[in-house]
Amino acid sequence: MLRSRLAHLVTAASLLVALTLAFGAAAGAATAPVGPPTATGRGGAAATVERLATQAAIDTLRRGGNAVDAAVTAAGVLSVTEPFSSGIGGGGFLVLYDASQRKVTTIDGREVAPAAMSPASFWEDGAPLSFSDARHSGLSVGVPGTVATWARVLREYGTISLREALAPAIRVARKGFVVDQTFFDQTALNRDWFADVPAAAALYLDADGTPRDVGTVVRNPDLAATLAGIARFGPRAFYRGPLAAALIDTVRHPPVSPAATHVWRPGVMTGKDLRAYAVRERAPTHVSYRGLDVYGMGPPSSGGSTVGEALNILESYALPGMARDAVLQRMLEASRYSFADRNAYVADPSFFPVPLTGLLAEGYAATRRALITERAATSPVAPGDPYPFDAAGQAAAKETEPAKQTELASTTHISTCDRWGNVVSYTFTIEAIGGAGMVVPGYGFLVNNELTDFTFDSTTQPNRVEGGKRPRSSICPTIVLRDGAPLLTVGAPGGASIISTVLQLLVDRLDQGMTLPQAIVDPRLSQLNTATTQVEPAFLSTPEAAALQKLGYVLAATPEIGAATGIELLGHGEVLAVAEPVRRGGGSAMVVAAAAARRAH
Ligand code: GLU
Repeated sequence: MLRSRLAHLVTAASLLVALTLAFGAAAGAATAPVGPPTATGRGGAAATVERLATQAAIDTLRRGGNAVDAAVTAAGVLSVTEPFSSGIGGGGFLVLYDASQRKVTTIDGREVAPAAMSPASFWEDGAPLSFSDARHSGLSVGVPGTVATWARVLREYGTISLREALAPAIRVARKGFVVDQTFFDQTALNRDWFADVPAAAALYLDADGTPRDVGTVVRNPDLAATLAGIARFGPRAFYRGPLAAALIDTVRHPPVSPAATHVWRPGVMTGKDLRAYAVRERAPTHVSYRGLDVYGMGPPSSGGSTVGEALNILESYALPGMARDAVLQRMLEASRYSFADRNAYVADPSFFPVPLTGLLAEGYAATRRALITERAATSPVAPGDPYPFDAAGQAAAKETEPAKQTELASTTHISTCDRWGNVVSYTFTIEAIGGAGMVVPGYGFLVNNELTDFTFDSTTQPNRVEGGKRPRSSICPTIVLRDGAPLLTVGAPGGASIISTVLQLLVDRLDQGMTLPQAIVDPRLSQLNTATTQVEPAFLSTPEAAALQKLGYVLAATPEIGAATGIELLGHGEVLAVAEPVRRGGGSAMVVAAAAARRAH
């Protein structure tokens, strides 16, 4: 395990870092820039959507922490500054390259449905609730996995305590952070619902019920105290005791004002559900792609299997030599057919025998590729039959779900690496922007609405609601190895379009000769087995857009798809950390020791 091996290294390494920094400062060496979306250098790196989080991760690395420590530190800060996209009220998935073992592993910190839930939990009078009614309720709240994830990864793979990791988050929650345009816009989306919930209104709305203005400082002393309790007592301060009681109360009796203008349905979570929560360490998904090894998140996420299947479909095309419009056409079709399979076959593997081996078999990909033409297929296309390629070999009843357009982009992705070669790709979320819309009174955090990721409008589909089950996710933290060593890590937010974003990032970087910053900027296209293909507005004016339209693609503009982050390991200890320059107001990438300006990308 990383920790025991690193224990010896850390002291020596911290000394070395201290000396290097002291010497570097005296010699006037470049230090890591603050805020820009791209940084090149050595000694480790971090990229997130937000400067304070990236800085906290870098500070942890500078003090001798490893990539896991840095990721948890950044996540703590994001839980304060990006409360509508992430936080301790939600869950996530973490993919880790452990340099000491030379292996990739994954941590499933997904939310779990309370034991008392059943396939018809979101139905009333013979019909499923609307998404908004389901979301803004106690029913959509899954047992959160984030605190358990942080504790588990620090214990198994980290070198610092939860107390150290959460210190920057507690500071930011106490001292406050400044509202920017993205925060304002995200608050505005939730305004009507926050207005119903006094604990949410007090934190995020002004007295007149409007969002806090850009430039206002938001302090969250309740969350500071909550995080301090977790720092001191560990996960039991979350999953047991007064916080757990308050969380249960929020779910079972939504804390809305008598003047609420919406109906908030109660949920069924119990203290037993909270106490039973367990993080799962799972094997990653794996495909080889043009001689590289691509590792991702397996079920209950559909990220790894769907990207993996699409890459398998694409591998036989000579993409590097093809015209850009033809490359994009193949990518869209590979995504379309993989999505058809994702919608039919991916669910929590404890409840449904996911034919993962079949879905990731090259032979199976060949059967899907055989259906692809040089024009747009008419969606929805039907799922294939991966069972002949799966050792389990047993065909399950095939019930797909109707193809859906991408949801509102939420969630946040953290990329970190360290000087020892460990790499972390961590996506965490509370599902929709603003989650279920309820802040736990007195504790300062929003609860998730992750259970709407179940196919809750069917009582029979594999991803139907069941007690103790994890809803299918699209989260797709990805690590690519070359000759057994990390080459690249990427991940993104954006609901189901997380998958198409990660696929496009990989195609752009690995097949199209783009640099990682270029790939992250590239206007995105997202084909999720729907009649239209979502594209960012900047794509619409390109020659490729016109070419694709001639081939039958109906392009629909969507303002923004996927504020990604990533890190490329350039060799000889040098790394390139990349965040989003524009989407979501721009992110922040930093390295421990910046390279000279000529090397910056
Ligand atoms: N709930 C989504 C999932 O796990 C992520 C939220 C989002 O990015 O919209 O797939």
